Amino acid sequence: MKLTVLGCWAPYPRVSGACSGYLLQEKGRSLLIDTGNGVLSRLLQHMDIQDLDAVLLSHLHPDHLMDIYSLRHAIESANREGRMDKRVPLYLPTGPAEDFNRIREFTKAFTIHVIDEMPEPREAVIAGCKVKFTPGKHNLPAYSISIEGSKRFVYSGDTAYQEELIKLATGADLFLCEASGLDQDTEYLQENHLTARQAGELAKAAGVKRLIITHFYPEYVLSELQKQAEEGFGQRVELAREGATFEL
Ligand SMILES: [Zn+2]
Ligand SMILES: [Zn+2]
Repeated sequence: MKLTVLGCWAPYPRVSGACSGYLLQEKGRSLLIDTGNGVLSRLLQHMDIQDLDAVLLSHLHPDHLMDIYSLRHAIESANREGRMDKRVPLYLPTGPAEDFNRIREFTKAFTIHVIDEMPEPREAVIAGCKVKFTPGKHNLPAYSISIEGSKRFVYSGDTAYQEELIKLATGADLFLCEASGLDQDTEYLQENHLTARQAGELAKAAGVKRLIITHFYPEYVLSELQKQAEEGFGQRVELAREGATFEL
């Protein structure tokens, strides 16, 4: 299993950067997780669009979503011009309604799967991997995602600290967790996001083997986020950066 970071910034990128997007590859299958602004051009540095097997959207905030609109055109064009002969499964939650209702019409590019409508415990086999979605604590319908192939990868999506995420992440080989702020932001973030220290503490409680933090505010010094996450985790923590790859 291989993770490639396509974008790591929120809610807007640094110069030449991209917002949330991750490519997970396993046995020749490719899953794209989140499509923030700047993600499609970075995806194309690593693979051809016709080899994409599934797209999973943790939630529909712009920093996780915007490139779905250009990805749709890339897939439709490839199908129309004979470079591709399939629609790509797209898993997404329902809100906000205006974005959801627009995206659900992109049926020439995607087969639409609504995560909110999946029966509990929201499990599916996607591109040969066992996938499980757990609701996050966020100001929109949002999900944390576990993807199990030869190894198990867990992505927090956007969420505040909660027991359900500890449960989902327990024993993960690699935990990719949002770290939206420093200690000083704890109160501001508490309903919707994790600080770097909380990401570390959550990873420690879940006993994950490896922690990578992401979803960085572009004005922050990343080594400070890393330091606070390491204090919470009690072990080394890695940083997600565009183009970085992690073998599981
Ligand atoms: Zn969000
Ligand atoms: Zn976000």
